[in-house]
Amino acid sequence: MKRWVLVVVPVVVGVALAAGGLWWLKFERQPPTGELVAAKGSLGQRAAFAVAVHAPKSPGLHSVRVALRTASAAFPLAEKNYGPGPLLGGGVRDDVLRVHADLGKLGVPEGNAEIEVLVETNGWRLSGEGPTVVVQHPVVVDVTPPQVAVLSTQHNIRLGGASVAVFRAAGAEQAEIVVGPYAFPATRGIFADADAWVGVFAVPQDVDPATRVSVRATDGVGNAREVGVPVSIKTRRFPDRVLALSETFLQQKVPEIYAANALAAPADLVQGYLFINRDMRKQSEERLRALTASSVPRPLWDGPFLRQPNAAPMSAFADRRAYEYRGAIIDRQTHLGYDLASLRHADVIATQNGIVLLADNLGIYGNTVVLDHGLGVFSLYGHLSAITVQKGQTVKAGEVVGQTGETGLAGGDHLHFSIMVGGSHVDPVEWWDPGWIRDHVAARFALLPAAPAAGGGEAPAKLPPPGATEARPSVIPGEGHPGV
Ligand SMILES: [Zn+2]
Repeated sequence: MKRWVLVVVPVVVGVALAAGGLWWLKFERQPPTGELVAAKGSLGQRAAFAVAVHAPKSPGLHSVRVALRTASAAFPLAEKNYGPGPLLGGGVRDDVLRVHADLGKLGVPEGNAEIEVLVETNGWRLSGEGPTVVVQHPVVVDVTPPQVAVLSTQHNIRLGGASVAVFRAAGAEQAEIVVGPYAFPATRGIFADADAWVGVFAVPQDVDPATRVSVRATDGVGNAREVGVPVSIKTRRFPDRVLALSETFLQQKVPEIYAANALAAPADLVQGYLFINRDMRKQSEERLRALTASSVPRPLWDGPFLRQPNAAPMSAFADRRAYEYRGAIIDRQTHLGYDLASLRHADVIATQNGIVLLADNLGIYGNTVVLDHGLGVFSLYGHLSAITVQKGQTVKAGEVVGQTGETGLAGGDHLHFSIMVGGSHVDPVEWWDPGWIRDHVAARFALLPAAPAAGGGEAPAKLPPPGATEARPSVIPGEGHPGV
């Protein structure tokens, strides 16, 4: 072997290894790639999507730029720079960029466009300069919100009451009535006009009477328009009541309610009572709100809602209750229902046609039945001694759903009755009143021709027969009734 071979071979091998190492560490051995995550074919005013980028065979990402390219211009939507990266590998090779852009503010014209994603790595390349185009995704830009016109008028609503709004929202996919912090979903498909919507909404007893009420309609790409609903909210004063809590009541009820809710008995009865009256009350309301988040998309009711026969009101809606124990006020709560008493274990009837949503124990309400009457209107029957219906069952107005009792936070046999609109308790007196149903509910459904009945569905709300009026129940103060 010649001497020069001994020199040249290691040099060649060394150079080759160095070149290979350099190639491995410093070069972009494969162009970067990318894809859109959850991207649709169109973009609304507020574009929101994500971009995933990958540069596995490179020293790492240098920059990612996302733009919207139209025939005449390019609008930058997002950009991220990663810097030169470490000297020997270890750069960012995979990343996800979330893009949130206001296309209206950017002045992007409506029509065809393309989402373009450009990626540059920190790798050296043998040929070609500049970034690699990893995504070219055609989209349609649509930044026009739905057209909204409110058709119903004269929404005269008492605080704690309800109303029905009818409106046209061309191009909307979703619509709701917004009342301060509350939103009540609206429904379409009730009227022959495919763009006509109806929404039952509440003005909950705890909102400011100056609260603005509006319709918010949103199209399929998130463009939203909010239009005011003409309302006149009549304020009212809810009665104040003091409920005396006796030792016997606490000794009997606190352990009973703890046991019914699978809780270990509390060491202190008053603390146990406060837990029930505050925390369990809140939990029960949260459960009700979740339970009533969706409803049958058509009215199942027909005319006014029935009152329990021969039942005397013990306590009215939204009483402000103070709880007295040993001469001191230990708690305050609002009574979000109506207490009715007649005979012990009296039959409780469904106030209207509906579907049983709950037939179970529900915290402070004890054994409870909740019915869905459609379009976000629900009724609740609490403190029952027996439940005679099952979840999912269809019931007719007047059908027995159970018997009164004193389960849950009730100090005597009575029915706690509540009407809820989209999870908010409202004054049931309105729904019992044929005149109110006629003017505030049925008249609204009569504003537009109804859609042809879709295969044997329930009839929509009808006008009550003329002259069918029922006296509004008067509230008798009664004795202290430490119930829900
Ligand atoms: Zn009650």
